[in-house]
Order: sequence, then C-alpha cells, then structure tokens
Amino acid sequence: MGSVSIPTEQWAAVVEKTGGPVVYKKIPVRLPGPDEVLINIKYSGVCHTDLHAMMGDWPIPTKLPLVGGHEGAGVVVARGELVKDVEIGEHAGIKWLNGSCLNCSYCNQADEPLCAKALLSGYTVDGSFQQYAIAKAAHVAHIPRECDLEAVAPILCAGITVYKGLKESAAKPGQHLAIVGAGGGLGSIAIQYAKAMGLSVIAIDGGSEKRDMCLKLGATSYVDFQTSKDLVADVRACTHDGLGPHAAIVVAVQEKPFQQATQYVRARGTVVCMGLPAHAKISAPVFDTVLRMINIKGSYVGNRADTAEALEFYRRGLIKAPFKTVGLSELNEVYKLMMDGKIAGRYVVDTSK
Ligand code: NAD
Ligand code: ZN
Repeated sequence: MGSVSIPTEQWAAVVEKTGGPVVYKKIPVRLPGPDEVLINIKYSGVCHTDLHAMMGDWPIPTKLPLVGGHEGAGVVVARGELVKDVEIGEHAGIKWLNGSCLNCSYCNQADEPLCAKALLSGYTVDGSFQQYAIAKAAHVAHIPRECDLEAVAPILCAGITVYKGLKESAAKPGQHLAIVGAGGGLGSIAIQYAKAMGLSVIAIDGGSEKRDMCLKLGATSYVDFQTSKDLVADVRACTHDGLGPHAAIVVAVQEKPFQQATQYVRARGTVVCMGLPAHAKISAPVFDTVLRMINIKGSYVGNRADTAEALEFYRRGLIKAPFKTVGLSELNEVYKLMMDGKIAGRYVVDTSK
C-alpha cells in the first residue's frame, strides 16, 4: 500500500444518535482496504440529505455512530494494493455513491446508483465530515487540478444530481423548465446547469433573498411559493404561450410542490422528483395524467459518467453557484439554518477548523 504520512487521529462531526446533534470530536483514522483509497478531505458541502440522515427521516436506517457528508473534496493520501488508477496526491472527491458491486445488471448498464449492494457515504458508511475519509477507488470522483477544492465540493452531490435530473427531464434548449426549490443547494446549482444547456428557467422558492439569487444566477422568472395565491396559474403565466413548463425538476423539501408540478407542466410534460421530504407521497389525478400524457419519474444521483460530465461543466467555468464556508465544528448551526429554510445556496465546511 503506497502512502504519505497519515495521523492516527482526526477531527470529525459524529451523529451518535438519530435526531442529533452532531458531536465534534476526535476519532481514529481508518486505513483503506485493498480496493479503497483514503482521501484527506479539505472541504465538504452540506446537503439536505445529511440532515435527513441525522433526523432519521427515511425508511432505511443509517449506521450509528455516523460520520455524515457526501460532497467531500480533498487529496488522496493512501491507496490499497489493488488500486492502480487513482494516484497518491491526486485531487479526488467522496460522493454519495461510495461504492457498488460493479457486477449486477444495474452496474453492468451504468445504473450503479440502483445497485442493491451500493455503499452510501454519510449513510451506510462514514462520509466526508471528517479529515480522512475512505471510498472505493472505482467510485471516487476525479477532480481536475485547476478546480478549487472549496468551490467544487457542492458539485459532488448537488451538481451530479441536478445534472442527471436535467438529462432525465428530456428538456431541450429553448424550452421552459421549472426548478422547484431553486433557492436551495441543489436548486441554485440546477439553475446554472439549465442555463448552460440553453433552457429558460422558472425558479420557484420562498422569499426575496432567494428571488434575487435565482435571478442573478440566470433564472428567467421567479415564483414565490410563500406569497403566490395561485401557484399553478402563476407558473404557467411565466411561459411564452401560457401552457406551462415542458418539465419540472422538484428538489423542494415539502410534499405539496410535487403535486403542484404535475398540474402546471404542459401536456406531455415531465415531472422529475428529486427532493426527498420525510414521509411524503406523490399523487396526481389519473384522468388528467392520462389525457395530458404527463410523465412523472424519479431521479437519483448519477453514475460515474454523469460525475465526470458534471465536473467538466464546472471545470469549463459554466457553474458558479454561491456558497458560504464555515468550520466543520459549526455543522450544528448549519443544520439549524437548513431546517428553517434559511440557506440561499450551499454551505461548505472546512475540515481544518
Ligand atoms: P436545501 O434545503 O438547500 O433546499 C431546499 C429548498 O426547497 C429550500 O430553498 C426551500 O426554501 C425550498 N422549498 C421548501 N418548500 C418549498 C415549496 N413548497 N416550494 C418551493 N420550494 C420549496 O436542500 P438541498 O440540499 O438542495 O436538497 C433538496 C432535497 O433533495 C433534499 O430532500 C435532499 O435529500 C434531496 N436530494 C436528492 C438527491 C437525489 O439523488 N434525488 C440528491 C441530493 C439531495
Ligand atoms: Zn446530497
């Protein structure tokens, strides 16, 4: 196993019980197994998924104690003896999909997020809210040298996920796309990818801070779900012919906007469900869905090719979404703001403080 000097202990933010809080403390550094690499995480984005994991919002249990985080950007410091294509010193990222079997029918068709044996960073295995994190070499993101590790971190989940969701939406250049939850981490980055793809974006979220940010990032219009009296009509009115957007990608953390999207997309429109609010259901009238030929689908992170492509958009300077950086020791405060819906864009944590 090739390696550089690695400490035996490190700082981490640990969920000790479901419901939180995270405890900032020293824990041992693990060494990589034969097919794994160890990454010295410099920065990690904070995704709403990390909060869902801590709160136990979803039907699958997390490991406990748990080190969350799955937008970790850093430097490879050790690799197992089977690893040939990740170099020590390379810039690499820990993403949600930490590993997969690489041998099932889904992995064989590059649908590895659907692998039944997938390992999930910050959920079923420890993630990037620590200074040294492990991932399967086959799945680490290769971060181009010229990318700033702090700014690129949110691409590792938010970027990959919305890039994939945009592909799944099948929206074409010139068409109208609604981004629901546009002022949050995924949404703000989705605006930039959608703009780069030539789509006309209707941003939907709440409050004037998020409005200003969405319009600055390139949204064509903004609908405020907190003040709109008839959201479906207001969204439709943002399209040139009044028929509604061709697609909606829903990254909001409430149930209602999923229902609304099935109503305001135009006939033959697509609703891509990506947000994962606790205990939520999606329902739409069957009659309307059939006669208007509405397509309702889910989209879940992205595969390794999506990862490389999403990073390439970033490297080319097309994705510049706002983020704020605080110390890893301040993660509980970030979660509080996130719970209250007060974060415009993304928070990044610096693992050195
Ligand atoms: P975030 O908290 O940064 O953003 C969510 C946004 O939704 C906020 O700006 C909030 O104001 C907005 N919102 C809430 N209610 C709304 C409503 N009724 N209408 C419009 N907007 C509304 O969260 P995030 O990190 O961007 O994550 C969003 C969701 O996506 C989470 O549930 C997360 O778990 C999920 N997620 C899914 C995938 C996937 O693969 N499908 C990947 C990553 C994250
Ligand atoms: Zn995420």
